Amino acid sequence: MKEKKESLSCSFCGRDKKDTNVLIAGINGHICDHCIRQANGIVNEELDSREKRELSRNIRLVKPTEIKAFLDEYVIGQDEAKRVLSVAVYNHYKRLMQPTGDHEVEIEKSNIVLVGETGTGKTLLARTVARMLNVPFTIVDATVLTEAGYVGEDVESILSRLLQAANYDVRSAERGIVFVDEIDKIARKSDNPSITRDVSGEGVQQGLLKLLEGAKVNVPPQGGRKHPDQKFIEIDTRNILFIAGGAFDGIQRYIARRMNTKAVGYQSAKERESISNTALLRYVSPQDLKSFGLIPELIGRLPVLTHLDALDAASLKSILTDPKNALVKQYVRLFEMDNIKLEFKEEALDLIVEKALEFKLGARGLRSICEALLNDAMFHLPSDERTERLVISKSYAEQKLDLAVMKQLKAVG
Ligand code: ADP
Repeated sequence: MKEKKESLSCSFCGRDKKDTNVLIAGINGHICDHCIRQANGIVNEELDSREKRELSRNIRLVKPTEIKAFLDEYVIGQDEAKRVLSVAVYNHYKRLMQPTGDHEVEIEKSNIVLVGETGTGKTLLARTVARMLNVPFTIVDATVLTEAGYVGEDVESILSRLLQAANYDVRSAERGIVFVDEIDKIARKSDNPSITRDVSGEGVQQGLLKLLEGAKVNVPPQGGRKHPDQKFIEIDTRNILFIAGGAFDGIQRYIARRMNTKAVGYQSAKERESISNTALLRYVSPQDLKSFGLIPELIGRLPVLTHLDALDAASLKSILTDPKNALVKQYVRLFEMDNIKLEFKEEALDLIVEKALEFKLGARGLRSICEALLNDAMFHLPSDERTERLVISKSYAEQKLDLAVMKQLKAVG
């Protein structure tokens, strides 16, 4: 018996038991730790490339021009942002499909920052890209995030939401897109980071870094701290695409300073100033984000930077009528369901645009104005069998959008 034990060896490599750290017995043979490790590597590699093959089958690698064409159907203007986003997304998914073993050139992630005023289409762009790629998508507001241990949401909650959006399919969540809105609101408030502990600013940036860097993060599936006994799920953020958006109010100051062009010449008329602000935004660079208060590490993890233009009257009008799911088209459809033909006169559309510009809420204002304008009709007409047609003329619009309503809107805005 003793003799038999001494002659034990690995059935795969033939190593003698004494040359191994661990020798595990099976039914008809043995395997040593060296062989286990090697076999594990082969299995992982095989699964990885099988997954990638499957991924290439599931996700069609859409070319940047096709991505842009798709975005054009839903988003008006913003050509530069669309181009930059299309290329970044294309490269991101190319990176995911890179065959295993091709490690000579490591393609880095193309997380993106979109800088532009509120209501110019930042969220819409990110959402539309996700819709086209058919990947899980979630939006988080950076202002609700706090450092772990403080009141508010931990950065991990971002992944809980993505997981929910992916119906708890971890693999699918790991290829999703996260839109972090209002990233500018977690900028460091002061140039001196040590004055006070900055719970909602730099600490959150540090927290986000962990996710952006590509880490394995333990995520409470239900999010939050309300369910203390839930089991954590591990999510690898390596392949999650992060798109951050923010208005970066006042960043033009830093751009101008860096470019050594004083904005003084434009101070005469307010309008001219805002035009110059839009023009300056075109030159936004990572350095300006740093001056604004984002930490360099975070900026480094968001290497693709682009801007969105402020929307002028023509773009706002086009937003009302042109996109596939344009507001006007939506209302026409809603009325159609009550057998009413809804029509907007050009001058009425111009009035809506004018009011939206007044509110400075970008395209976001259009919806609330349309709601205020049509609320009366949407309330009464469904029970009025006789009305078959509603024409929104300028005077009708003026009457409905009377001062009281507008004031209310202003208060909301
Ligand atoms: P942001 O994220 O820049 O604040 P959003 O993308 O949330 O703005 O836009 C708010 C709403 O305004 C969207 O739901 C969309 O309907 C409309 N919108 C904004 N910009 C555009 C645009 N460029 N083209 C079409 N619709 C737009």
